[in-house]
Amino acid sequence: MRTATILSEKMLGHKTVVVLPVHYPRELFTAMDVHTVELWGPPGPPRGPDAGRIQPYACAVVRNALAFLASGGADAADAVLFPHTCDSIQGLATLAPDFGGWGKPALRYLHPKGQDGPAARAFVRAELAHLADRLAELTGRPLAIPRLAAAIELHARIDRLRGAFLSRRAFLDMADPALYRLLRRGEFLGPGDHLAELAVAARGLGEVRVQRGVPLMVTGYVPEPMTLFDSLASAGSFVAADDYAAVGRRVPLSPPADGGDPLDMLAAKAFTMPPCPTRGGDQDVRMAYLETLYRRSGSAGLIVHVQKFCEPELFDVPAIRRRFARIGAPMLYLEGELENSLSGQVVTRLEAFVEMVGAGRKAP
Ligand code: SF4
Repeated sequence: MRTATILSEKMLGHKTVVVLPVHYPRELFTAMDVHTVELWGPPGPPRGPDAGRIQPYACAVVRNALAFLASGGADAADAVLFPHTCDSIQGLATLAPDFGGWGKPALRYLHPKGQDGPAARAFVRAELAHLADRLAELTGRPLAIPRLAAAIELHARIDRLRGAFLSRRAFLDMADPALYRLLRRGEFLGPGDHLAELAVAARGLGEVRVQRGVPLMVTGYVPEPMTLFDSLASAGSFVAADDYAAVGRRVPLSPPADGGDPLDMLAAKAFTMPPCPTRGGDQDVRMAYLETLYRRSGSAGLIVHVQKFCEPELFDVPAIRRRFARIGAPMLYLEGELENSLSGQVVTRLEAFVEMVGAGRKAP
């Protein structure tokens, strides 16, 4: 599906950049007619022997990505972007070209770590300008500022709809498996196509609560395997609050400021995102955010779903455990390695968790 999308974008004369997780300025790519396709692994076994070039105690995301790039899986694309998400992806940015895993341009983007402030804004703006220069080398056309303003508006509309689906989840007449398939299509569809699909789905967002299952909150990295949602749905629950790095943490908490210089607006957006351990920041602030999200959504239990060996996510897990134990929230911890499907053992744990949480809700 992702390759088919790349080929159809090529027919439109657009370059394609494969993007490693998590955060990057999509608006800039849209403004410069560069199609982006995200590479979250891909899931399943590595697509070649090159995964073995990385130590086995690195996460499956980078090991699978190297194998995928080296086996020619992304050859239809024109470049790869390595955001500075973690040491593993930064290492991959060096390993992939050096080991013959990727011979086309390797772009880098350092997103801001930590709090907002004048120096941080200036830093992000410089990073954006640098990335725009690299994209101009790729496309042969410089960034046109009015086009960036239009791209910011387009992505703001996408963010609004994605945010509405997640924050008003109980009022959306759509099962989790379908909702997450829809949201994740934004990882590779052109923004106009993704917006059109979201707008159709928004007709199912009403004023009456339609989700009747056990409401759960999920925090984690990427919802793989997607069969997780089938298992949760058949166990009688739904995801009332999402804090996946790939999903909820990429929806800004406030809309872009009106007007002003578009590069400044884009730099400001980086500081409107929910707390994410891949961007550093204050752990207490993140814990307060998670508790607020949990309470506001009416969730009755928390699933922590992380990738094995993922340092940024795992760093916060003890704090999450403490915070949610203090408020008496039931918690289930799952660790994955981009498997194609959940094991029978994990499905049984999910079913038992939903049953326990559901029983607790009925208790007087
Ligand atoms: S799963 Fe964690 S360690 Fe692996 S690439 Fe993502 S952020 Fe980095």
